Amino acid sequence: MDYLPIFLEVKGKRCVVVGGGEIAARKTALLRQAGADVTVVSPALGNALAQLAREGKIDHRAQKFIIEDVQDCHLVIAATDDSVTNRAVSVAAKQRQIPVNVVDSPELCSFIMPSIIDRSPLIAAVSSGGVSPVLARLVRARLETLIPAAYGRLAILARDFRKKVKQHFARPADRRIFWEKVLQGPIAEMVFTGRDQAAREALEQELINAEQGTSTMGEVYLIGGGPGDPDLLTFRALRLLQQADIIVHDRLVSSQVIDLGRRDAERIHVGKERDHHSLPQEDINHLLVRLAKEGKRVARLKGGDPFIFGRGGEEIETLAAEGVPFQVVPGITAAAGCASYAGIPLTHRDYSQSCVFVTGHLKDGTMNLNWDALVQPNQTIAFYMGLTSLGVLCRELVAHGMAAVMPAALVQHGTTRHQRVLIGTLETLPGIVKEAGVKAPTLIIIGEVIKLHDKLNWFEPEGTSAQPEASHIIPERAASGK
Ligand code: SAH
Repeated sequence: MDYLPIFLEVKGKRCVVVGGGEIAARKTALLRQAGADVTVVSPALGNALAQLAREGKIDHRAQKFIIEDVQDCHLVIAATDDSVTNRAVSVAAKQRQIPVNVVDSPELCSFIMPSIIDRSPLIAAVSSGGVSPVLARLVRARLETLIPAAYGRLAILARDFRKKVKQHFARPADRRIFWEKVLQGPIAEMVFTGRDQAAREALEQELINAEQGTSTMGEVYLIGGGPGDPDLLTFRALRLLQQADIIVHDRLVSSQVIDLGRRDAERIHVGKERDHHSLPQEDINHLLVRLAKEGKRVARLKGGDPFIFGRGGEEIETLAAEGVPFQVVPGITAAAGCASYAGIPLTHRDYSQSCVFVTGHLKDGTMNLNWDALVQPNQTIAFYMGLTSLGVLCRELVAHGMAAVMPAALVQHGTTRHQRVLIGTLETLPGIVKEAGVKAPTLIIIGEVIKLHDKLNWFEPEGTSAQPEASHIIPERAASGK
């Protein structure tokens, strides 16, 4: 280890920044955040520092650096663009044993500054020892995504209960186990979703439970797994997936997403294929309740968004009735994912001012839809579960007044490596789809916005364009029949 990482207390202490430019301003801001009294030494100041000087928030010495500037200070940062001055600052500070940092010159520094993730009072600092600041910043960016923004509030909760927990558990090992459970379970999640008071009450209850040896309740995360591409998960979805003890998933969730869970987490497939669910909805609802009551953290993973044609509402109704804590994590719904990856904006100022999501699920061979509401000008229609009913759908729309030449698209396996986009019109799409041998899941989009596909198409999964089947991408001109 080339450096000793430490956190320095500078509250109310005089720290000196030499330089008046942007970098000096950033260092000054950081020192002020940590409560330091900052003196800036520079003949001239940039806008940000000049503003602080006017407001009396920093002490400005409008002169070139002289040795006396480092007298009686606790820390010095040199951020000028003059290497002679920077060196002079370094020498003067080192002679007086004052910690000194010279921006971008590790050899002149007695300390270096890390990249930081600020979740005060929790702070993570990353350093490459001055070897590659960019690499340190990249690591920092990765950590930013892993550490929820509300971690600071969680740390404050832990601080407030620290004494109490210590009184409850005499042995350090017991305290550690208790805190691990609190900081990774439902109580932490309450803080992350802004329910701090509930978290406090739950923590009190947890202490009572621990005393009486009663087991605690688990929780359910109803997570939107997105349309397929695992990169489309939210940070929260990923975090909860990785802390779940059990993952209960549908057929539609991509295996890459399921794989992101903990390796030792149990995985339960509850199916949901068209017309034959491998587990009836009722059973799924009760399975979730039972697992949570056993104290498990259950990730209920659904394709797309759980509240869009996902029956997510029914599942959490049962949870709510049984008093099981839960949270819902939105996901990118198939319409949004497929539209983006097919280069078809769902709305556009020239073509469409509204968009409706509809399910084309056949009920007794008929579709019980409000056709007149669907056949509106300047509207895009996104049809879910519409593959088998595509023919009826197109026919009914035309019968209710939509132009037969209205562009229509089908996106198969949207956002994945197997994505295919078929473009036609209400009149031609059913035939094109039949010919192409399409497989579910597919999303159907109807509306003028499809005209933009030719221009905006950007996602061509590897392997599809080179293969002969690539002819499934029918040029709009030919397909739209115009
Ligand atoms: N809750 C999901 C929808 C579940 S209904 C969501 O918000 O996306 C299942 C239907 O979603 C499928 O029949 C299909 O119409 C659509 N769908 C889901 N993933 C898809 C994908 N990757 N490509 C195309 N359609 C998809």
